Amino acid sequence: MFNSLSDRLASTFKNLRGKGRLSEADVDATVREIRRALLDADVAVPVVREFTASIKERATGSEVSEALNPAQQVVKIVNEELQGILGGETRRINMAKTGPTIIMLAGLQGSGKTTFAGKLGKWLAAQGHKPILVASDLQRPNAVTQLQVVGERAGVPVFAPHPGTTSEFDDPTGDPVQVARDGVATARAKLHDVVIVDTAGRLGVDQELMKQARDIRDAIVPNEVLFVIDAMIGQDAVNTALAFNEGVDFTGVVLSKLDGDARGGAALSVASVTGKPMMFASTGENVADIEQFHPDRMASRILDMGDVLTLIEQAEASWDKAEADRMAKKFQDREDFTFEDFLSQMQQIRKMGSMKKMLMMMPGAAQMRQQLENFDDREIDRVEAIVRSMTPHERVAPKIINGSRRARIAKGSGVTVSEVNQLMERFGQAQKMMKKMASGQGGGMPGMPGG
Ligand code: GDP
Repeated sequence: MFNSLSDRLASTFKNLRGKGRLSEADVDATVREIRRALLDADVAVPVVREFTASIKERATGSEVSEALNPAQQVVKIVNEELQGILGGETRRINMAKTGPTIIMLAGLQGSGKTTFAGKLGKWLAAQGHKPILVASDLQRPNAVTQLQVVGERAGVPVFAPHPGTTSEFDDPTGDPVQVARDGVATARAKLHDVVIVDTAGRLGVDQELMKQARDIRDAIVPNEVLFVIDAMIGQDAVNTALAFNEGVDFTGVVLSKLDGDARGGAALSVASVTGKPMMFASTGENVADIEQFHPDRMASRILDMGDVLTLIEQAEASWDKAEADRMAKKFQDREDFTFEDFLSQMQQIRKMGSMKKMLMMMPGAAQMRQQLENFDDREIDRVEAIVRSMTPHERVAPKIINGSRRARIAKGSGVTVSEVNQLMERFGQAQKMMKKMASGQGGGMPGMPGG
């Protein structure tokens, strides 16, 4: 997402490099290019207008820092303005002071509400909350079942109005407002501290849909109404957002399908045109693909300054402390790094999700995009298959892996002998590096936060 916008802005900044000072003509040309880049990325016209006016004013104005060269100054200004468009400060969920926090989801059909309900539930549960999902989408066939599947995947209970569920409030009348009410009552009775209410969407904005969403809102008085919008819908994003803003007066925005490769600019305009903050990004089909939305980090990601903080948080969230401690101790005691350790490290990486997605958050990733696009997450599967084809003894004593053993391992894992050779070589290097660091020639273990 935002790739082409990133590229365009990067090349604009490149033109400024090496300039000692910016003439008015330089500023004009730069602002013109930024305007074109934003419009081409589908950013809404009024937002572009405001954005470029502000950049022009700041870049020509008194805001000149001795410490920064002109190119850096423009990047800094664009970064701050971009952060402003995206909502400024990070906005966290408004938790209820007493009783359960009620979060209602609204948005068009297919925008990713149901999927997001599961993600949010899992995300909150990981923070020690006890959420429950409520299936108030009775419009779409299977919506209730879908939420149940999502809930199961997320490990979060679901209140559903269908027979066969365990709820004592089972009410097959099919009134979504009543279901929402019963869901909240169930949450109270069962001491859940967060209730996430999934509601029905339609393919387009229509009055009946809006009324239903409003009725649900009025019945349960949510602490947050989150508007879920598909970042891929392009220009329609702004009008849809405005309609929902008027219809249900949402309190925050969830940008879904941010993993796609659409231009995404329209979605970037949503916070600005509605005045409501972006709160979450949904970045894949998996229940773990959720990020809290940090306008500053997103801006720096768009400007290819990397998002190392999000990277670290994701690593920490999935990090297995006991395993990290075990590795650290092993390392301290200068024990040999074995293929068993290698496997366990790979499991850790897997838990963080896609390796490619993580690499994409590194500073400068945009410039390496071509190579990163070619990075195949299945590479990890291949490596794992190779290691799993080794005998336990081979894994802890890799020295014994001679030519005929390599041939057997290649056959067992469905790869070529040269792939096995490559892995053995890389492993040998990693082992050497570990030794070197353990003997004090390096500063700690690489890539092991919290270890
Ligand atoms: P709802 O109608 O608003 O409840 O939307 P769903 O949750 O059913 O999502 C519609 C489709 O989009 C499903 O096929 C989801 O798997 C998919 N989807 C949802 N969120 C994401 C996301 O962040 N990324 C991607 N790639 N697909 C998503």
